[in-house]
Amino acid sequence: PAHGGVRTVSVLGATGSIGDSTMDLIRAEPERYQVEALTGNANVAGLAKLAKEFSARFVAVADPARLGELRAALAGTDVACGAGESAVIEAAARPADWVMAAISGAAGLKPALAAVDRGTTVALANKECLVCAGDFFMSRATAAGAQILPADSEHNALFQALASGNRHELTRVIITASGGPFRTWAAADIEQATLAQALKHPNWSMGQKITIDSASMMNKGLEVIEASYLFALSPDEIDVLVHPQSIVHGLVEFADRSVVAQLGAPDMRIPIAHCLGFPDRITGRAAKLDLAKIGQLTFEAPDFTRFPGLRLAYDALRTGNGATTVYNAANEVAVAAFIAQKIRFGAIARLVEDTLNSWVRAGNQAPLGSADDAIALDQQARNLAATLLPQIAAKAS
Ligand code: NAD
Ligand code: MG
Repeated sequence: PAHGGVRTVSVLGATGSIGDSTMDLIRAEPERYQVEALTGNANVAGLAKLAKEFSARFVAVADPARLGELRAALAGTDVACGAGESAVIEAAARPADWVMAAISGAAGLKPALAAVDRGTTVALANKECLVCAGDFFMSRATAAGAQILPADSEHNALFQALASGNRHELTRVIITASGGPFRTWAAADIEQATLAQALKHPNWSMGQKITIDSASMMNKGLEVIEASYLFALSPDEIDVLVHPQSIVHGLVEFADRSVVAQLGAPDMRIPIAHCLGFPDRITGRAAKLDLAKIGQLTFEAPDFTRFPGLRLAYDALRTGNGATTVYNAANEVAVAAFIAQKIRFGAIARLVEDTLNSWVRAGNQAPLGSADDAIALDQQARNLAATLLPQIAAKAS
């Protein structure tokens, strides 16, 4: 970090769940950080409160209609502000030593790329943008000299464990999954699960979209794809292990059969603290791990039949050339339709599968060369999913 040890940081998605954990860590040692920019989607009051508390230099709200409200909330302060997508991108591009990319969904892609292009260190929580942009995101980071630090707990675990060997010595990585609230449910019950049931995650407290993705195991599917792009691994090199206690987050197997794992309480402040301190270690805020108290750690193989979203992620990775973009876009449409109670829980995976199949049949697969390619395909896949939605909604299962 520049400026005599003070690290300048920006947090994209500061008003969300990851944003909240990040601000909690910054709050604990305020003298170490200068907050450059903060962004939010529509929660102006929350954003303005953070801006004042941390004396941010710039804040952006994504909803362009809320500029007046934001200005009013910041009246009498030195905090500059803006509204709309361009203001969020401006926030991301401002000079910072460290940027947390924690906007949810594919909407996080352009802001994350704006930070990456500055060659800064980017703590990446937003998995959808990586899944949407594929290889392209990582090559852009390499070109700009930006270090990507995975903030997603499983990938952060892999990042830490990978440091104990070389790439050519690695034989496999394993990411764990809690199994979500429906881990032990019969397929017919999962099919009919309600929104309230899907939102009851056993271990982690997270934003709404990722909580639903955890229940369908689409989250783990997104994470398999994320691991593939982050660490340049083939689908065969990535395994998923169901581990209901969520204590072991990721494991790396080396050629000598050593397996190195990272453990910690299920608290996102642990991987975020790793990213915030990197390459040093800072004092954490999460509870210390007490294995004697936990007593038992259990593991089981994932069930690709009850959780087809996981199988579809491997299919999409193998298809390549934009298929993971389609997987993510169709899932975002499906989750929104489930929240709006237009489709059953079980239909989420069906919509993703039908969208992928229909897109593959159309035969337009091509490598993504730019962010605009990724965004265009994302939009095309959303439209395709939206046209398939009524059929899926009508089909009783
Ligand atoms: P969240 O819904 O709690 O917060 C999302 C943030 O993004 C909020 O600040 C919101 O205002 C902002 N936002 C939403 N839509 C936007 C848009 N169109 N433009 C600009 N800003 C927008 O979500 P979260 O749980 O904090 O997750 C954030 C990201 O981190 C997701 O990609 C998620 O997959 C990933 N992630 C989250 C967790 C977790 O524990 N919450 C763990 C691993 C990865
Ligand atoms: Mg995760």
